[in-house]
Amino acid sequence: MDYKRERERMVLTQLEARGITDPIVLAAMRKVPRHVFVGEALQAQAYGDFPLPIGHEQTISQPYMVAEMTQLLELTPEDQVLEIGTGSGYQTAILAELAHKVYTIERIRELLIEAKKKLDRLKYLNVVTRCADGTNGWPEEGPFDGIIVTAGAPHVPEPLKKQLAIGGRLVIPVGDVYSQVLMQITRKKDGFIERTTGGCRFVKLIGNHGWGG
Ligand code: SAM
Repeated sequence: MDYKRERERMVLTQLEARGITDPIVLAAMRKVPRHVFVGEALQAQAYGDFPLPIGHEQTISQPYMVAEMTQLLELTPEDQVLEIGTGSGYQTAILAELAHKVYTIERIRELLIEAKKKLDRLKYLNVVTRCADGTNGWPEEGPFDGIIVTAGAPHVPEPLKKQLAIGGRLVIPVGDVYSQVLMQITRKKDGFIERTTGGCRFVKLIGNHGWGG
């Protein structure tokens, strides 16, 4: 299978066609081998316009959703980013292409071990991983220029807002278990600016400041 061609097609028909315009996001989506982050049996479907299962009842997000959330983070090469919900590690790799350093937290140890193996093999040396409840954030390493939550939250976890740098952006799906809206929250000197984009559907953010287990 010509995966490079599949990626090109994905970028044209799923991302550019739906309004993803940031050239650095599009370049990262063209480069990162998404098929490496799914099981062998699903590799041929890796560039399809849908999420795929990665085990433990979790999913690798639809390519468009990965691109849209990354675009909303407005990253620069100096940025320090926190990701909650490593999952397959695919979104982590996209972030590692764009930011200086990525801190990523996953609560399911088996997923984290698999993701780390893949990220190491692809030589993403600017990624640090932790197995924990990410709704508490990673206070020792903050503040962060960008925070991305790749699971659906019932409300915005307060520790994540606290760990945003001034000017930093938090991107998070918020809503009920079945549907959420994507929020971009920017920290300013005197408070937060909230912007809501389209609807989405993510697996549950489970933890202290998320859904109960
Ligand atoms: N970004 C991932 C990717 O590219 O494969 C997709 C992530 S999947 C939609 C959501 C992930 O969030 C799952 O792996 C789930 O275990 C994880 N998760 C849910 N609640 C969490 C929490 N409190 N802390 C860390 N990870 C959490």
